[in-house]
Amino acid sequence: MPPLFRSSNSRGETQPMVAPKKPNSLENVKAVVFDFDGTLAVLNLDFGVMREQVFNLLKVFGVHEEMIKERYLLEIIDEAYPILEERSPSDAMAFYQKAHQILQEIELTAAGEGRTLPGTERMLMTLREKGVKVGIVTRNCEDAVRRVFPNIDEYCDVFISRNSIKKVKPHPDHLTSAMKALNVNGEEAVMVGDHILDIQAGKAVGMKTVGVLTGRTKREEFEKAGADCVLTAAPEICTLWEKEPADSTRGWGK
Ligand SMILES: [Mg+2]
Repeated sequence: MPPLFRSSNSRGETQPMVAPKKPNSLENVKAVVFDFDGTLAVLNLDFGVMREQVFNLLKVFGVHEEMIKERYLLEIIDEAYPILEERSPSDAMAFYQKAHQILQEIELTAAGEGRTLPGTERMLMTLREKGVKVGIVTRNCEDAVRRVFPNIDEYCDVFISRNSIKKVKPHPDHLTSAMKALNVNGEEAVMVGDHILDIQAGKAVGMKTVGVLTGRTKREEFEKAGADCVLTAAPEICTLWEKEPADSTRGWGK
């Protein structure tokens, strides 16, 4: 490639220069892994009601709020299990099943009213046409996701709900399982999500990360979490392959 322009160094010698390669380009990216709720679909899950019902159940089983250190509901259920198991294995099992039943009922009800976000199917198809592999990872249950997106398997190479993995994101197992199925490493993959935990999970396994503003998280929060890029909505990701976005605040790595 011929030099694009020349410059002088400190000694006044003319040096050939080539256009610098964009450090954060998606050139090497072979796969995009998406979160589901709030990223590819809208479900209007009432996390407040879920939380209240699970904590009421904990109280019924004699586990008090101050005994719980975890932040997210699925992890809270997992944390309570051994506490209860020490007292009564049958109580632990009963609590675990009932708690998951509560979550699943709320998720399935929300899924009944849920829908994929505009442009989701077309975007997934476009990525695959470009030769980019697509993964979908979610803390939601499989039945709820399939109720919203019945033909999900036609649009992605791997779909991992919480029913198919023991430790869900932000635990690294969830994303590393997806990458393994897609046969890519962290440097070759992008994690896209509407929640800070998607960014944290992606960064923890060395993926590039993209926050989308279709959930409750604000641009500043994504930037603070270290997201490589913030997009208004997931379908914009296709434009990152084509050109530097006109809006510099939206640019990759900005
Ligand atoms: Mg989400």
